[in-house]
Amino acid sequence: MPDYIFPLPFETRMKATLGGEWTDFAKAHKDASPVSIRLNPAKGKGLNGNKIPWSDFGYYLSERPAFTLDPTFHAGAYYVQEASSMFLEQALKQTTELDKPLRVLDLSAAPGGKSTHLLSLINQDSLLVANEVIRSRAQILSENIQKWGCANVIVTNSDPQTFQKLPGYFDVIVVDAPCSGEGLFRKDADAAREWSEDNINLCSLRQRRILTDVWPSLKENGVLIYSTCTYNAKENEENLTWLAENHTVEFVSLSVKPEWNIEEIKVGPVVGYRFYPHRLIGDGFFLSVIRKAETEASIRIRSGKNFSLASKKISDQLIPWINDANYFRTIRQEDLLIQIPDALYDDMGFISSQLHTVSKGTAIAEIKHEKLIPEHAIALSIHLNKEYFPAIELTSDQALAYLRKDNLVVGEGKRGFALVTYNGNVLGWINQLGNRINNLYPSSWRIRMNANASG
Ligand code: SAM
Repeated sequence: MPDYIFPLPFETRMKATLGGEWTDFAKAHKDASPVSIRLNPAKGKGLNGNKIPWSDFGYYLSERPAFTLDPTFHAGAYYVQEASSMFLEQALKQTTELDKPLRVLDLSAAPGGKSTHLLSLINQDSLLVANEVIRSRAQILSENIQKWGCANVIVTNSDPQTFQKLPGYFDVIVVDAPCSGEGLFRKDADAAREWSEDNINLCSLRQRRILTDVWPSLKENGVLIYSTCTYNAKENEENLTWLAENHTVEFVSLSVKPEWNIEEIKVGPVVGYRFYPHRLIGDGFFLSVIRKAETEASIRIRSGKNFSLASKKISDQLIPWINDANYFRTIRQEDLLIQIPDALYDDMGFISSQLHTVSKGTAIAEIKHEKLIPEHAIALSIHLNKEYFPAIELTSDQALAYLRKDNLVVGEGKRGFALVTYNGNVLGWINQLGNRINNLYPSSWRIRMNANASG
């Protein structure tokens, strides 16, 4: 790989920060970024590699497979995620009682790395609000959330300001802020090209605005996890110093094993963790945990009035479709039936009435001419009762044809809806019509890559 050319002011600053380590830092940019994935513990079967030390689910891969051509990727068996950012797991585990029902906000959630990770860490009676302000990105977020298969999540597309309507509501807020991306230079050439001091200043101001907007919605004693993938102090410790000057906060120290080579920084009251690519196997990253130490009156949510329950006749028909029917209530929105966790029924109703909602719970079926047509989301759900439906295991070529929404030939089967699987992982639905098969993979999700392509 050719020598990496850094923006000059960045190089000057980093040389001053890193001193003798600069050469190693620069050298690390001649290598490609490490490839890593995080397994979905609720689905299991996926790729494996060397363990990422700070995550129970993260693995490094020795090479970059063509993920798009791996059907298990589309089944939500794993998520491709940069290793350093999986440190979120330590931040959450070490500061939060994960066995309690929590309300968690992931404010800048697309494409879904932190949200899917949070879903693997919180319990099923906890609610995740996965929010993304950019509409097109909120759709991608919703798709990745559906693949992960959990129902205790609502995907929203709201401006951070909107969260002021929810004072004291969340136990945990994750702000994975839009930033200047200095830690991603080796992965993303655009991040280096677009870098400028002016952009750092703009990012820093935007981050302060975001923090100001969401701060009231954090409960007293709740934790805010702030992260960026950039090194500069303006977007990290200086913003947090500013937060501490304007609010009563406690920075939380995490226990970090020395062999992880993560740098703990302490500046005034601020405690944070910085990841450098020459010290560990991962890209540049910064994270800090801030506990709210000031009083905040909590909003009282109104109960039960925001959703219409499906009729008993319809709900009863759906009982065998899922493993744990008691966990859910079925709501009806026009002809769409959605499963909402019973314990989160009021919360989800309330949040959908306050925020612009993209998806919630798990869509299970559509009513068409009095028949129940299964929704794609329930095929990918971790709650699906696989035994109830006929299932057809596909070869790799058939699975890719299915994911391209091509014609599928799988031999004669019983008429009606069937699941298609690959290595036991559910990919979606087909409808067997006797002489042909309807491929029900969602059109907007279909893959466009050929088997001889790489990437
Ligand atoms: N958390 C995501 C993950 O782990 O997959 C990555 C988030 S990325 C670092 C930052 C996100 O902030 C982007 O999705 C971007 O669209 C969003 N964003 C951009 N401007 C924003 C704003 N003004 N307020 C909140 N979020 C914003």
